[in-house]
Amino acid sequence: MTTLPPGSTIGIIGGGQLGRMLSVAAAQLGYRCAVYAPEDNGPAGDVCARWVKGDYGDEKALAAFARAVDVVTFEFENVDPAPLRRIAENAPLYPPIEALEIGQDRIREKTFAADCGGRTADWAPVTSREELEAALDKIGTPAILKTTRFGYDGKGQARITKRADADAAWDALHEAGTLILEQMVRFQHEFSLIAVRDQKGNVTFWDAPENVHKDGILATSTLPADPKVAEQVPAARALARRVAERLDYVGVFAIEFFAGEDGPVFNEMAPRVHNSGHWTIEGALTSQFENHIRAVVGLPLGSTRLAAKTVEMRNLIGADADNWLEWASDPMAHIHLYGKGAARPGRKMGHITRLGGF
Ligand code: AMP
Repeated sequence: MTTLPPGSTIGIIGGGQLGRMLSVAAAQLGYRCAVYAPEDNGPAGDVCARWVKGDYGDEKALAAFARAVDVVTFEFENVDPAPLRRIAENAPLYPPIEALEIGQDRIREKTFAADCGGRTADWAPVTSREELEAALDKIGTPAILKTTRFGYDGKGQARITKRADADAAWDALHEAGTLILEQMVRFQHEFSLIAVRDQKGNVTFWDAPENVHKDGILATSTLPADPKVAEQVPAARALARRVAERLDYVGVFAIEFFAGEDGPVFNEMAPRVHNSGHWTIEGALTSQFENHIRAVVGLPLGSTRLAAKTVEMRNLIGADADNWLEWASDPMAHIHLYGKGAARPGRKMGHITRLGGF
């Protein structure tokens, strides 16, 4: 393992808000970021050193991008992993492509979590209307039908509260390829683990935030979490550690859990920095963004300890961001705006973090 010196360039696949916050953290450490993305510009464009416009499937362009930087990582995982192999041939790539492949496919993800000793909601694959009936016989209602690939922020999901909802769910989703029917988990709390593994294999966790979703989109992350969540964190961490070691993972990853009646239920994992870790920018001694950069350049990790007794992160979704002046006028609120133009409904425009209990 060699540590890249300050002044080196980190390539980031994807140019959204995660790339923006990674670029800021990298700049603070003295590194430059080059972003590769298909758009003309994006939230990371305001702060990265270089923006390279290219298609995620363009192997030649990806290889050239990799040759022009010192290490590559990604902030967006919904891309075909095959062309990304050209990156790995031309530059170190962290985290490994296998983590991306697993995180992209709900069936692989759940199978992998179970192989690592985790518990998931009961599920069944669905590729036809008949299979949906068989899956409903097995799993019962309420259940959720989901696309197996390219689903995020609650997109590609349909709830089946009673058998009569099955037709509508099927009509809404069947054109998206293989589906998965999941049992609706009964839970009082959702939480996530944000973890980082460095190139020497050290794994560190931040405190686990309690997350509230609205319409499938993260609304708030709060610390400390309910004591019921705290009870389940050790088992969840043991699973995350096995996941990281099996993948020989380098960088930050997140696993979302339901605090089930008999312990943590694995929901999904993201092989990247995660929205439920945005609070770490002010709420922890080292943020998820800084530690991700530290991991990929080969630096030792910074402390993940809490910087305050209480932390609350609230997402600014769609029109929430129109009140920017009001948010920015609260001297106790750290406001982050992602520089996105139009505030479409459901679009993550920024977030606010408040620390308390000093
Ligand atoms: P996902 O995109 O799978 O993370 O789903 C978004 C949100 O929908 C989750 O954070 C939960 O609030 C809810 N959800 C998804 N799957 C389930 C499930 N099997 N049981 C209960 N709630 C779920």
